[in-house]
Amino acid sequence: MNGASIITIRTPTANCYLVRGETTYLVDTNTPKSRKKLLEEIAKSEVKPGEIRYILITHCHYDHTGNLAELKRMSGARVAAGEKDAEIIAGRRPYAGPGDISPAGRLLRRIPPSLLERYQRFETCEVDLPLHEGDVLEELGLAVLELPGHTEGGVAYYHGENRLAFIGDMVSNFLNRPGPPFLSFSYDRRLILDSMRRLAELDLEYAYPGHGTVIGPRASEKIARLADRLSARWKPE
Ligand SMILES: [Zn+2]
Repeated sequence: MNGASIITIRTPTANCYLVRGETTYLVDTNTPKSRKKLLEEIAKSEVKPGEIRYILITHCHYDHTGNLAELKRMSGARVAAGEKDAEIIAGRRPYAGPGDISPAGRLLRRIPPSLLERYQRFETCEVDLPLHEGDVLEELGLAVLELPGHTEGGVAYYHGENRLAFIGDMVSNFLNRPGPPFLSFSYDRRLILDSMRRLAELDLEYAYPGHGTVIGPRASEKIARLADRLSARWKPE
């Protein structure tokens, strides 16, 4: 990562990150609707699709996997994702849909699944590297942390030397204010808090979220304060 640059590709829906360095890789792939913008931004960065060696997916939601299959075809990149979400990304396991831990989620669960599926559909894609806690992507200097609570197989990619991590939706940062993942599409508040505390313990300077702006400096401290606030607010239901 030393000498590498991280290019944020942001659409109104989600972020992805193109990391240019000795080995170029992409973290997440946004929604199917944002394909044109994503490809334009990659072209603007002067990275040719064939130079992208890895596509790292933080979790299985359509706003992170929306262009995965197409980009894998274009680049020949190896695709990595947490094992439990990899099964969903590959289409071997159905996505559970909205969670029941928030009023909005409970309301969404009453919508026919076929309607939600139509909205959140993405082309399924084989995952080359199903990941587990403690795995290391040597070539990229990244360690894998399992972060359940939003999706079962959500992961963060942690660069210890540079004290940064790509954290998916575990912490959002809208208007530069750290917040929880979308609860309507999460399934367990206690696991969310546990996952946030793991990020808080890392001594992160910067955390790169799926939604909102980059968290930092002192990202871990900010995430620790968020977890404290939420655990006071989230009394057991
Ligand atoms: Zn998500």
